[in-house]
Amino acid sequence: MGSGEAKTRIAQGVDARAGELDRLALEIHAHPELAFEERYASDALCAYLEREQAMVRRHAGGLETAFVAEAGNGGDLVAILGEYDALPGLGHGCGHNLIGAAAVGAFLAARDALDGTRGRVRLIGCPAEESGNGKVRLLKAGVFAEVDAALMFHPGDRDEIDPMMLALATLEVTFVGKAAHAAAEPYEGVNALDGLLLGWSAMSALRLLVRSDSRAHGIITDGGKAPNIIPDRAAARLMVRSPDESYLAELRKRVLACFEGAALATGCELRHEWSDLCDLVKTNRPLADAFAQNAQSLGRTLHPRRPSDTHGSTDMGNVTTALPGIHPYLAICEEPVPSHSVAFAAAAKTPSALATMRLAAKALAMTAFDVLADPAMAKRAKEAHDGRRS
Ligand SMILES: [Zn+2]
Repeated sequence: MGSGEAKTRIAQGVDARAGELDRLALEIHAHPELAFEERYASDALCAYLEREQAMVRRHAGGLETAFVAEAGNGGDLVAILGEYDALPGLGHGCGHNLIGAAAVGAFLAARDALDGTRGRVRLIGCPAEESGNGKVRLLKAGVFAEVDAALMFHPGDRDEIDPMMLALATLEVTFVGKAAHAAAEPYEGVNALDGLLLGWSAMSALRLLVRSDSRAHGIITDGGKAPNIIPDRAAARLMVRSPDESYLAELRKRVLACFEGAALATGCELRHEWSDLCDLVKTNRPLADAFAQNAQSLGRTLHPRRPSDTHGSTDMGNVTTALPGIHPYLAICEEPVPSHSVAFAAAAKTPSALATMRLAAKALAMTAFDVLADPAMAKRAKEAHDGRRS
């Protein structure tokens, strides 16, 4: 089958499933689930794949809500990645309901278009993007083994091929003090909350002095048990981010030092742990060009990143460190709407969002086909990846 014919077939394959894909996106939107708890979503996506005669392996990589489906024979291997977790208090304020449905649509359409073409497509259902770094666990568990290219899309308010996704480290700090009656014998206590707040103030002061493209922010997760007890424990979860991985290493030290100094000043013990390390997203140019061309053929023009655009961070960064990958944004709304907001959650279930989801499914499947039909393409993607790494 020629490339034009295959792409027509891909578009038809997604259009024929429009009703089911829309239903999946809307049902997952109506059942928001947090990281590693996406049982409804992974079940709904797997059940539909099984109805479509896909061989589905649930609990991939030992994660209850991860799954894998694979099709094709020999040749190169393209992975299409789905996400489906939600945000606490905001539901699908990041639109991952659309990512899961698009990935399933892309996988099925690509599978049907393979039709004798050498090559394999692997759908990877990835839990826990918002927290927990699900893809990092799947990478470690070998779920990305043999993958030559990893493709996904993310909903946004602008069509953007090469988004700035910052490197990120999460820091848990716990101050341990000594409880005492806050009125009778406060001088017998060591105030863990005051220690934490002093560290927080130092971090706030530091923020004026850090590069304007870098971030330090967080929440207090434990501020004590009762106002009449000197808190013997206080804790915060913080995130430190930068587009520059070496500057991030420096910033991590400076943020931690804020809390170390505060612990010393207040006589508290400081416990800390770094986790959820996300790498910078490294967009693979040959794959991005192919995706942009396919999106263009479907009527969407992808724009390069503007200096002011930042999208936060993602565990897809770690995937793009390991192998060639892309994480383009496609707009689901006409007007700018910030992500991680109530308004974005509302936008993620509109007819316009569903239309973008189906367009993304087509563009992803067409890009997968481009890689599999032309072995030189996978080679170019690998060379660009290796060149960037060295
Ligand atoms: Zn997201």
